[in-house]
Amino acid sequence: MHDVIIIGAGPAGLSTAFWCDELGLDTLVLEQAEEIGGQLHRVHNPINNYLGLKAHNGKELLDRFAAEVDGAEFDLWTQTAIDSVELRAKRVSLASGEELQAIAIVIATGVRPRELGVPGEKEFVGKGIIESATRDRDLFAGNDVCVVGGGDAAVENALLLAEGCPTVTLVHRGKKLRARPEFREKLQGTHCITVFTESVLTRIIGDERVVAVEIQRKQGIKPFQVAVGGVLIRIGVEPNTALFAGQLETDEKGYILVNNQQESSVPMVFAIGDVSNPLAPTISSATGAGATAAKVIASRLNASS
Ligand code: NDP
Repeated sequence: MHDVIIIGAGPAGLSTAFWCDELGLDTLVLEQAEEIGGQLHRVHNPINNYLGLKAHNGKELLDRFAAEVDGAEFDLWTQTAIDSVELRAKRVSLASGEELQAIAIVIATGVRPRELGVPGEKEFVGKGIIESATRDRDLFAGNDVCVVGGGDAAVENALLLAEGCPTVTLVHRGKKLRARPEFREKLQGTHCITVFTESVLTRIIGDERVVAVEIQRKQGIKPFQVAVGGVLIRIGVEPNTALFAGQLETDEKGYILVNNQQESSVPMVFAIGDVSNPLAPTISSATGAGATAAKVIASRLNASS
């Protein structure tokens, strides 16, 4: 029996673990990936807004977290797949067959990039699918490229790629781009970017690598192809909540609903970080929410002992 089982070892989960440890709670962190860090692995931009600490990218911040984890007292199991979770019973069944029990569960499973679900999207990973313009723009300089999406991420990435690519084709399903005015203004002044609104990317075409994309315009009759050497997809994110489906309250997009103590609709089940925070999915919000959850759990356990 553990006091707390934390699911997910990104900034939110790790922050909770450090706080729980400091507050004297028996704490176990479960992480399915080989490494801790969660979304920090996908942050390729400088981190400038984490008070008191700057980093060139997520990896640099993660290295600092990892150095602290090395000396920590809590248990951390990576590469640990969870088969099922019974939230009300606070029981976690691992894929290995092991059963775990806790008094409190903290869900810190974060979000994952939304997928388009078109042919070629998975097949060309590492063969023309661009993960990040910040990281990969030198690699794709000189190539015509396509970006899918209409939010800040898509437009910011299109602008970055335009610095080195002869043409950038931006494909957005909606009538208007959702990106902030600053990005939209820059887009208008960047002539190598062609924007197709009310359009969807239907196929990524290639052989060894990506060579073209197929686009279907809403008003158009036939899809058409554009020759490109790279495709970057930025169509938002989705919360990782499949393990808990039907067991707690979520909003219409699947984000876990919590009160101001980070507690979900199931008593002693807390949700922290991006999985419960679509409005401010930041590292500082995640680590702060972790501290709140840990303090609440500690005070409840102290009160009942
Ligand atoms: P958003 O949710 O803001 O935008 C997602 C875009 O993808 C929307 O335009 C949406 O279209 C489109 N989309 C969603 N699903 C599909 C689909 N199945 N097929 C095609 N298109 C689809 O996500 P972002 O990743 O752009 O941004 C996430 C958050 O990160 C935001 O809060 C943003 O402000 C922030 N951010 C900030 C940056 C910065 O400050 N520099 C940079 C990047 C992101 P539709 O509009 O039709 O719904």
